[in-house]
Amino acid sequence: MPSYTAPTKDMNFILHDLLNVSQSDLPGYDELEADFTKAVLEEAGKITSEVLAPLNVVGDREGCRLENGVVYTPTGFKEAFEQVRTGGWTGLDSDPAYGGQGMPYILGSAVSEMFSASNQAFAMYQGLTHGAYASIHTHGSDAQKAKYLPNMVSCEWTGTMNLTEPHCGTDLGLMRTKAVPQGDGTYKITGQKIFISAGDHDMSSNVIHLVLAKIPGGPEGIKGVSLFIVPKILVNDDGTLGAANGVSVGSLEEKMGIHGNSTCVMNYDDSIGTLLGDEHKGMRAMFTMMNFARMGVGMQGLAAADVAYQNAAAYARDRLQGRAVTGVENPDGPADPLIVHPDIRRALMDQKSFVEGARAFLYWGAMVLDQARLKDDKDADGLISLLTPVIKGFLTDRGYDMTVQAQQIYGGHGYIEEHGMSQFTRDARIAMIYEGANGVQALDLVGRKLAQDGGKHVMAFFEMVKAFIKDNEADEALKKDFLDPLKAASKDLQAAAMFFMAEGMKNPNAALSGSTDFMHLFGHVCLGLMWARMGKTAGEALANGASDATFYETKLATGRYYMARQLPATAMHLARIQSGADPVMALAADQF
Ligand SMILES: Cc1cc2nc3c(=O)[nH]c(=O)nc-3n(C[C@H](O)[C@H](O)[C@H](O)COP(=O)(O)OP(=O)(O)OC[C@H]3O[C@@H](n4cnc5c(N)ncnc54)[C@H](O)[C@@H]3O)c2cc1C
Repeated sequence: MPSYTAPTKDMNFILHDLLNVSQSDLPGYDELEADFTKAVLEEAGKITSEVLAPLNVVGDREGCRLENGVVYTPTGFKEAFEQVRTGGWTGLDSDPAYGGQGMPYILGSAVSEMFSASNQAFAMYQGLTHGAYASIHTHGSDAQKAKYLPNMVSCEWTGTMNLTEPHCGTDLGLMRTKAVPQGDGTYKITGQKIFISAGDHDMSSNVIHLVLAKIPGGPEGIKGVSLFIVPKILVNDDGTLGAANGVSVGSLEEKMGIHGNSTCVMNYDDSIGTLLGDEHKGMRAMFTMMNFARMGVGMQGLAAADVAYQNAAAYARDRLQGRAVTGVENPDGPADPLIVHPDIRRALMDQKSFVEGARAFLYWGAMVLDQARLKDDKDADGLISLLTPVIKGFLTDRGYDMTVQAQQIYGGHGYIEEHGMSQFTRDARIAMIYEGANGVQALDLVGRKLAQDGGKHVMAFFEMVKAFIKDNEADEALKKDFLDPLKAASKDLQAAAMFFMAEGMKNPNAALSGSTDFMHLFGHVCLGLMWARMGKTAGEALANGASDATFYETKLATGRYYMARQLPATAMHLARIQSGADPVMALAADQF
């Protein structure tokens, strides 16, 4: 059975040594003193490693089942959900006006990482509820907020997002679900949605669906889409539950992973809904949810990589195979442990340097998001909007790769189900697909975000990297190991952006043929920046005589690995981008 240990030490290093959160002037950050975050993270660590991690494999093996229209979750999920709910974990970063604890998003992100790493399928029930909460909180009327939010913050009621239909996932302008106004402020919603995560289950007394639909007579395509709140059970004005709404589960999808999460075909038959936000502005309201959700999915990539890495590292220390090429290291045993072999080390270093770099990137991103929403800072908003597709796409692509590397360390024992490594790769795979498939994230990055506000935000990012390098160049060791590689990678990123600017208008295929490479190039530079900043922080801690020297030395060595072995990938991505559209578009469709 695989296990999970919450990486609280690394989390606290990022929060305090690197980001210095309690010194920030962001509202609520003064509460994030080291003792406080340590206590919160350790408590979350306990419930995730002791309760949720053991249920992960149960969820995988049993899956959900649909009986007489009711969805049942795997054994133990319901009790664990109750424990999570009564422990107050569902409302950590929600508004106190609705029963939340009002903590900054950055702390919520650290806790969510643990939930996802220990049991991704389980964590999605509350993760989707949080996304639906965010949409209603931002776009709902006071009456809608009062009616739905308190029970959603506590997860008495859970939430879903309903975009996908059988004939459209990416191209939502093709949507057919209809919403007909009833003249009393309500709408009757009719249509079918597929692949709806947490669409129904037995762990809450109601499910609040956010459903995209078209009001007849509205604009064509995506401009005619509106968002509706459609509860499974109607809610009376006094907050009590009323009659069943016309909402039913058509079937449960059979799928590759996250078996513990119910992925439902949802049928809406004249179901009663109320408009969330403005008519025909449904995508705007849905995007509030999706930006949080995309950061959350990026986090799933990191979380999956971490739990897989933890188990692979333990296995590599334990499993005896072959002898070290430089001489026997375990003379009393029949062989040396796998971890003596350089190729196993390479795989473990790939994973470790990705996980720690990604964690820093994600928490820094969460802090930028807090800056944008708590201070209404437009520059921060522009920056996080630019980085969101990178967080989602790069962290889930690479996170999945890392689960495969971890599985590889187990050899054949990784492929069979006994050790749980196969589940990590199967579960991690979906994060590359939902919340906008990664190819579409890359398209969003190159086609929209790069040029947003006249390219102001990407320029600000380049300036930030440049300023960090310039301010720290006097430190010779930092310069050689971290700043010089970062400078080279950042130049590759700038050259790629220049290529798109020069070629993109003339030949859009040239820009889009390189979009996934650009997303990865950008992701590597972000992790390079994070490692350079962590390298500086760790170096300073050592120079100041930090008591835990091994931790900081390990940090430095891991960072040097990333800079030397991972960051050079930027040159390859740039070369691919600069090769343009010709190699990619050379064949006619019937030549494939
Ligand atoms: C387990 C699971 C859970 C899900 N949960 C939810 C949920 O809770 N709510 C919900 O609404 N949906 C959910 N989805 C649906 C998911 O978001 C969609 O599957 C996804 O957005 C892709 O849509 P699609 O499957 O229709 O693929 P398509 O849109 O048909 O795309 C197919 C491929 O083509 C690529 N592509 C499409 N258009 C372009 C383009 N213009 N340029 C380049 N490439 C392009 C895509 O990147 C993708 O790789 C879930 C799906 C699964 C499998």
